[in-house]
Amino acid sequence: MGMRETLKKYAVSAELIKESSGGELSNTFYHTCMFCEKLVKVSPHNFESCRNLGGGKFYCPFCLRNNFHYRSSKNVLILSYRGIFGQYYQKNYMELEPDAPQRLWISDIKRMISNHEIIGNRCPVFSYDPTTFLWFVDFNKVGSDSRKAPFREVQSAAVAILACFNLSKIYNQYALEDMWSKFEKSLTLFYEKRQRPDGRRMLIPTLHGVAQVALGQSSRDFIPPMLQLK
Ligand SMILES: [Zn+2]
Repeated sequence: MGMRETLKKYAVSAELIKESSGGELSNTFYHTCMFCEKLVKVSPHNFESCRNLGGGKFYCPFCLRNNFHYRSSKNVLILSYRGIFGQYYQKNYMELEPDAPQRLWISDIKRMISNHEIIGNRCPVFSYDPTTFLWFVDFNKVGSDSRKAPFREVQSAAVAILACFNLSKIYNQYALEDMWSKFEKSLTLFYEKRQRPDGRRMLIPTLHGVAQVALGQSSRDFIPPMLQLK
């Protein structure tokens, strides 16, 4: 299931339950953001703002607030760590298969997610949207001149965020390094050539191939409404 379908399934079912008695459904509909692909609820209160500010294309309030509707957004790399904690949720909490190395509770996963948000927000070129677990790294502000953030600080921020997920403890000593190499390769490619990861708009590495983790359903599409008690 692609991100758009996943978002639609969860966002729409959540909203329908909430609004079924309100009778406002006819005024409320869903649009997909041109930039972050988030499916957002729009109503007469914000539809024209979202459309007009985007110059006729639809952008979500988060992207408009961060000026991602401007051309400069071609220098913004969208990335997420949800491939990791989506996998934790599925394998180390929901299923806990015999080969799962360690049990995690949902509170452990929530704590990691909350820590990664705090750590990431320390770096001023990272912006976070908690409704999708996506980070937006603004490379307009990254470079070697004195008015820009050095690339090595972007790299160390990305490593520090990754360290919140205890990969070496939950898998093995190589997992952190293997996972970091996936991020590092793509960050460098984007910094130097503005190339996004192979054929994808977003950098969302999974644990596939790391520490012999076999991947079931893709954890790339993991979003907050899926994080539920079993
Ligand atoms: Zn957006």
